[in-house]
Amino acid sequence: MTDRKQPAGQCPVCGSKDLRTLYDDTLGNDLPPFDYAFSPEHMRTYEVVRCNTCSHAFCILPADDIWKNYQSVVDAEYLSREEAHLLTAEKVVETMQRYIPSGILLDVGCATGDFLAVAKSRYAVEGLELSQWSSDIAKKRGFTIHTCTLSEIPPEKKYDIVTLFGVIEHFESPAQEIARISRLVRPGGYVFIWTGDIDSWLARLLGRKWWYIQGQHIQFFSRTSLDRVFSDVGFVPVACERYPFTTSLGSLSKSAFRYRILRPVARLFLDNRIARNRVITLRLPGEMLAVYRRAGHS
Ligand SMILES: [Zn+2]
Repeated sequence: MTDRKQPAGQCPVCGSKDLRTLYDDTLGNDLPPFDYAFSPEHMRTYEVVRCNTCSHAFCILPADDIWKNYQSVVDAEYLSREEAHLLTAEKVVETMQRYIPSGILLDVGCATGDFLAVAKSRYAVEGLELSQWSSDIAKKRGFTIHTCTLSEIPPEKKYDIVTLFGVIEHFESPAQEIARISRLVRPGGYVFIWTGDIDSWLARLLGRKWWYIQGQHIQFFSRTSLDRVFSDVGFVPVACERYPFTTSLGSLSKSAFRYRILRPVARLFLDNRIARNRVITLRLPGEMLAVYRRAGHS
């Protein structure tokens, strides 16, 4: 979400050049798919490297400004998961209430506005979204949506809360984007962020098959590297909980189909209408819901 380029061969979190290859390049000069209708094509990635200095992992990109592709994303599959999104949002808002009960909120990467639809009962909400198609849907739902990059938000805008759910792993220059966010958050304000933890035991167990390792994800944080990128721009780590991923057994089974060992169980759920529609909440290892507070008093 930036027009500034990631310096080649340098960690985008700490600037170190001490890197090692984690996973080989299987995308070449192709672009990854930018939607969520999973296929084997989604599992192809650019070379993933790990920083020996700060533990952050990231992709070596063959070209700059891949983010511009998000402007033209149309993702019907995303719409079909609205119910799961709303249920998840309710759990997330419950968690947020424990830290900050009210205020003005900006949801970065708000898609069609499912999170905003729930959060508006507690907060004054706005969204930021690159996709014209998603923005239009969110605007029709009555939300204030900024269809632009973080660098294009007027500097006088200030928020009590910024949320990034499943977004930071897509940033080409995460440290610069988080610095931009820090300028938008009032002193004493909060950032809530959901992303994967590449150091979690589940990520280590699954290796390249960990679901975060897919073409459109280019940053793979650990709790250490996430804390670092926020601390560097004046945030204090407050908590790191497990993200309350809420979904129907049907769509969970569709995702599980990628793992051969889970296929018989997945098929069982997909074939049974009652089981398929059953909603469950998973708090999986490695799904971080991290909370940061901007230093200072509001
Ligand atoms: Zn680093």
